[in-house]
This record gives sequence, structure tokens and C-alpha cells, in this order.
Amino acid sequence: TRHKLVVGNWKMHGSHAANAELLQGILAARPFVAEVAVCVPFPYLSEVAVTLSNSSVAWGSQDCSAHVQGAYTGEVSATMLAEFGCRYAIVGHSERRAFHGESDQLVADKAKAALAKGITPIVCVGETLEQREAGETEAVVKRQLSAVIHALGQCIGEVVVAYEPVWAIGTGRTASPEQAQAVHAVLRAQLAAATPRASDMKLLYGGSVKPDNAAILFSQADIDGGLIGGAALKAADFVAVARAA
Ligand code: 13P
Repeated sequence: TRHKLVVGNWKMHGSHAANAELLQGILAARPFVAEVAVCVPFPYLSEVAVTLSNSSVAWGSQDCSAHVQGAYTGEVSATMLAEFGCRYAIVGHSERRAFHGESDQLVADKAKAALAKGITPIVCVGETLEQREAGETEAVVKRQLSAVIHALGQCIGEVVVAYEPVWAIGTGRTASPEQAQAVHAVLRAQLAAATPRASDMKLLYGGSVKPDNAAILFSQADIDGGLIGGAALKAADFVAVARAA
């Protein structure tokens, strides 16, 4: 059986003071059965790395440049992230796809760049409400994942995939456990066609995961944990979600 993983995506939230309080709350709740990580805004990586070093709580970024280095103003490379001890880099979050025009190909290139420096990409896929209502959910998530499979080849076995239906993000409207599991099964089957390691890969669910719905979501056959937004900003909520895994 796969070990569960619960990742907090802080998005563009935080401050020195708020981060310290949140991390102390998480650290005080150890040990966790699940692996726990936080993906923080770039400016805080340095202090988060110090706070969490030798703690069993991992950290990562919310993006990673597809480029190695050079004249790319505002970008942060995988080499830099590795210097700050990042274990994970979220790539292709729906907010970046929607608000920053990231294509499937760019997301795949970012995943490849992270992996090349030993950082595990957390590749996000998910359909909009319009796409779900048009019956396109499977086609959309398969297209998004297929770009990454194509770019990584056998190394696809090293990524974490997060299914985050866009209509469930920050809306309080979570996918039902059955809806989420159905998509996870599709993704696992697609991965199985690409790598013998598919059965060992972690597939996370994200989208309005809260303390009161986490356990049932995480108990689904192909759901190996969660990518948590709003509930990752309060230690008590995040700890409760992590304990549900
Ligand atoms: P919420 O948990 O706030 O819905 O956010 C989910 C998400 O986008 C995590 O990456």
C-alpha cells in the first residue's frame, strides 16, 4: 500500500509572523503517519527551510521555471530551489494555467526541469465546471497528464500527480469521494500504460479538502493524500487534515 502524502499549498498567503505560528503549530503536532509538506511563497523558502530542517515536515515551492538559467526576469530555477532544500515543486496549478496562461507543454517542461535537479514535481491537472458539464473531464485531465508523460518518458514514475477540479478549488464545493476516485482511477490507468511504477505513484486530490471531508476522500482506493489550500493556513485545520491521511 502506498504511503499517504498531505501537502499544504499556501498560495500567496503568509508573513514572517503568520508563517512562524503556522509552522510551530504543525511541528507541535508531530509525529504524523502521513508524509507532510508545505509549499510556500518563494521569499519565505529560506526561513521555512531553517524552521523545518531535520523535522520530517518537507517543504517546496509553488512553481519552478522551465529554464535552467538566464535572462528570465522574475523566474526561479530548479537549481535555486534545490539550494533551499525544496523536496517538491507544484507545477501547473490551475491558477497558473488560468491566470498566467501556462500551457500543457510549459507545465511538462517545468516538471522536467524540477526533476532534473532532484525536486519532485507535483503536477496539477483538473477540469473546469464548464468542461465537467460538457462531459469532457476525462479528456481534459488525460490531455494535461499526457503532455507530462510525453516529456518525461520513464521518469514519469517519479512525479506526484494532483487532481484538482477547478470548480472545487476555494469554493467549498468539494468533489464527492466517488467523483474524485473515478478521475484518480482514470489517471492511474493512464500512468500504468506509461510506467510499471504507476501502482507506487502518489495521486493527490485537491479542492476544498477540510477536516470534515478529508478522511473519506483519502480512504478512496486511488487517492493517496491531498493538496490543501485554505485549510493549510490554520495549523489546527492542516493538522486535522494531515491526521486524516
Ligand atoms: P482549497 O483547498 O482552498 O480549495 O485549494 C485547493 C488548491 O488549489 C490546492 O492547491
